[in-house]
Amino acid sequence: MNTPEEPTFRESVDIMYNRAVALMDLSPGLEEKIRVCNATYTVRFGVRLRGELKTFTGYRSVHSEHMEPVKGGIRYATGVNQDEVEALAALMTYKCALVEAPFGGSKGGLCIDPREYDENELELITRRFAYELIKRDLINPSQNVPAPDMGTGEREMAWIADQYKRMNTTDINGTACVTGKPTNAGGIQGRTEATGRGVQYALQEFFRDADGVKKAGMSGTLDGKSVVVQGLGNVGYHAAKFLSEEDGCKIVGIIERDGALTDPNGLDVDAIRHWIAGHGGVATYPGATYVEDGASVLELDCDILIPAALEGVINRTNAGRVTAPLIIEAANGPVTAGADEILRGKGTVIIPDMYANAGGVTVSYFEWVKNLSHIRFGRMQRRQEEARHQLIIDELERLSSDSGIGWELSPNFKTKYLRGAGELELVRSGLDDTMRTAYQSMASVWHERGDVDDLRTAAYLVAISKVADSYRAKGL
Ligand code: NAD
Repeated sequence: MNTPEEPTFRESVDIMYNRAVALMDLSPGLEEKIRVCNATYTVRFGVRLRGELKTFTGYRSVHSEHMEPVKGGIRYATGVNQDEVEALAALMTYKCALVEAPFGGSKGGLCIDPREYDENELELITRRFAYELIKRDLINPSQNVPAPDMGTGEREMAWIADQYKRMNTTDINGTACVTGKPTNAGGIQGRTEATGRGVQYALQEFFRDADGVKKAGMSGTLDGKSVVVQGLGNVGYHAAKFLSEEDGCKIVGIIERDGALTDPNGLDVDAIRHWIAGHGGVATYPGATYVEDGASVLELDCDILIPAALEGVINRTNAGRVTAPLIIEAANGPVTAGADEILRGKGTVIIPDMYANAGGVTVSYFEWVKNLSHIRFGRMQRRQEEARHQLIIDELERLSSDSGIGWELSPNFKTKYLRGAGELELVRSGLDDTMRTAYQSMASVWHERGDVDDLRTAAYLVAISKVADSYRAKGL
């Protein structure tokens, strides 16, 4: 994806890291310790498929172990390589620090196009890859906990958890070895939607920040804003769906592998997702304008651009033509260091990946805690909460009737007020709180420090100082 003069993904992350570190007072030793990737394991393994032995290459990279377990997704894509997993592992370190998820950073990947294999084959490949990582403690509830990423989802996570449990039959916390599992296999409600939901909460918080909105040259709220989304996968689909259904945004462009769809009046996100599932792409979708050169739609006139597919898509070659005043990096690394410079020069506000897509790891943290505590969130309190609310309602109604005022509480209020919080409500509330708090910590640096003029540098400053504090506390 990068043009020749463009740094690699890993170098891009380091450039952004160095820019932030230059504004900090870290010792050179600590600065290097935080930046470098601790270890990357490469594995090549064979699986017998369709009568022949096929060899696969996979990676698991551990960037920082200042906190353990380390955490980070497993990606299935043909472009997976060491540079990429190391960049993604580094981003995980900073992301976890920023949102205060108590993990170090890690990432894994397998060079494979999952669409070329059927479900049984994928299970064989996934279990074998997991076996290789588990036997080296690169999957382990207290040391290294993967999650879904591009090309993987809850199905793969369930296979990995099962494989771990087969190999560690007496580990009572075995289910916590991976997050993003289906709810019937130790998962948590709200994990599948979490990253897209986090993008929505991030944008809601951005539009509460009047200074930030002004810096982007924008005004008002999310209502009525036009949005272009690249990648209608797990993250892009949920972000687009929630923004259009709940916040009044208009999705005017959707970019997929085989082209893009546009409609100035707003696209039907669910219908398009359904169409892609049935037809393998967007090209033949009848209800919108099809653009064969999908990447050109990144340059469409819109208020908010959400790259939610892969890295390096906004680079030196097209950054100058991107017109959206606000970009939210739902994908990891969609804007290269070179493009970042061009966009900053134009005054484009970028909500950086390490914050924007942190919803996934945040809810993964909740899932891990749920697995270790062996109890669903809300199970102990929910009915007790409802009983206390019922007491208040009964008392209000008694007072109203005894005093002759005759007030009646509306049935809608009663239903809403009475309902105790279940797992999904608690997960969403914890996620919303995390996204708001992390935004505020970044935004205060952005607005208050004269030498910081973008949210990415602010995010790095907050994250690096937390990692540095943690190393210092260990005596390093
Ligand atoms: P996914 O595999 O569910 O979806 C990716 C989508 O992008 C697919 O619809 C695919 O067809 C599309 N796509 C692929 N190549 C494209 C191209 N060249 N142009 C346009 N579209 C293309 O993956 P995902 O889990 O949604 O992850 C997307 C991004 O979000 C990745 O950068 C990932 O690292 C990041 N992310 C994911 C999570 C998570 O919880 N899944 C969490 C944090 C960050």
